[in-house]
Amino acid sequence: MMSGEFDCIVIGAGVQGSFTAYELAKRKKKTLLLEQFVLPHTRGSSHGQTRIIRKAYDHDFYSRMMQECYQLWAQLEREAGVRLYRQTGLVVMGPENGRSYQLYKKTLQNNKVPMVVLTRENFNQHIPGVVLAEGDAAVVDVTAGVLYADRALKTVQDQFQKLGGVIRDKEKVTAIQPGPVVTVSTSAGVYRAKSVVIAAGPWTNKLLVHTGLQLPLETVKINVCYWKEKVPGSYDVKQRFPCFLQTESEEVHHIYGLPSNEYPGMMKICYHMGSKADPDQRDQQTNTSDIDILRRFVRRSLPGLLPEPAVVESCMYTLTPDDHFVLDRHPTYQNIIIGAGFSGHGFKFGPIIGLILCELSLGEVPSFDLSPFRIGRFQPKPKSAL
Ligand SMILES: Cc1cc2nc3c(=O)[nH]c(=O)nc-3n(C[C@H](O)[C@H](O)[C@H](O)COP(=O)(O)OP(=O)(O)OC[C@H]3O[C@@H](n4cnc5c(N)ncnc54)[C@H](O)[C@@H]3O)c2cc1C
Repeated sequence: MMSGEFDCIVIGAGVQGSFTAYELAKRKKKTLLLEQFVLPHTRGSSHGQTRIIRKAYDHDFYSRMMQECYQLWAQLEREAGVRLYRQTGLVVMGPENGRSYQLYKKTLQNNKVPMVVLTRENFNQHIPGVVLAEGDAAVVDVTAGVLYADRALKTVQDQFQKLGGVIRDKEKVTAIQPGPVVTVSTSAGVYRAKSVVIAAGPWTNKLLVHTGLQLPLETVKINVCYWKEKVPGSYDVKQRFPCFLQTESEEVHHIYGLPSNEYPGMMKICYHMGSKADPDQRDQQTNTSDIDILRRFVRRSLPGLLPEPAVVESCMYTLTPDDHFVLDRHPTYQNIIIGAGFSGHGFKFGPIIGLILCELSLGEVPSFDLSPFRIGRFQPKPKSAL
């Protein structure tokens, strides 16, 4: 049986737990990072070679957080001497008068993000190989690009270990006993710490059971689809082909794509929603209705791709009812911190989330306004007196 005493135990070595552990170690806190699977693994939400990084958002607070987050990514790149980001730009397309498209455009303008509004006339000069749908408009977030996800995860875990942090993988947390000192039992040992951060992705509610709390989280399986170029190189990252985001009407989720990178000659294009799945039984979910939506989109908008995915991989989203994150202290136990519900858009925020969860676990005032991310927003509001 392993054992030990720590300042903080972080549960989950996905992107959020790994950045939290790294921030704690930077502040010389004795930190243990626990992971249930052998690292690296492909069962949660942080695997795969690429993710989009962007300031284009439909809410100002995310755009503002990203301003600082870019600097933190660059800092990690310098510190580790590893390239983690490649600027490609991101073209946001959508019905010109649609609420969603207008919100993205307004947020870019409000936050003074370098941007280019494309006209129907010059669209193909800038974005060849894409057909802008009838009635759609397009705007480019120039600062956006690709994050090298697997590499980023390994880099931050390596930096954590260089700072003296301890990672124990293949060690599943089986119980959490709250108290002024929290006791965490795993498949291999029992550890104690002044505070615990739960960053368990789709498994969050399975862990929170031990603390008497359940959050309104829904876990869904995403089909990650790669589409083959008819002429190799037409949509390649090296040709500076951009990432894209196709917004639709309110009821329909967006579609996003990244230039060919991990599989040469294949673009990654996904639907921003999947089907309900227990993370421990992910592969039993076989619904592919999202792929039908993608086929229609590829046929309509990307004529240089074969409209049938050549590779389909799996990943998980953990959704909150409003798609905003959960970054908060446990309502009953102030030394248990929760980072969850990243709703399919949390990777780019990794360095900032790590900073915030570290600050919360040390009892510090967080660097950002966390009101959109509080657990209290899920509780029914008291009826006002008549
Ligand atoms: C297909 C896809 C595309 C995406 N694209 C983007 C994008 O372009 N841009 C972007 O910003 N974001 C994107 N995201 C979202 C982003 O990847 C996630 O928000 C982020 O990875 C969530 O990280 P996490 O650390 O919360 O969860 P996870 O990566 O799931 O990590 C949680 C970890 O906790 C461990 N764990 C759970 N329970 C236990 C236990 N009992 N004991 C020990 N360990 C435990 C798990 O094994 C896991 O490793 C995408 C996600 C997917 C699936």
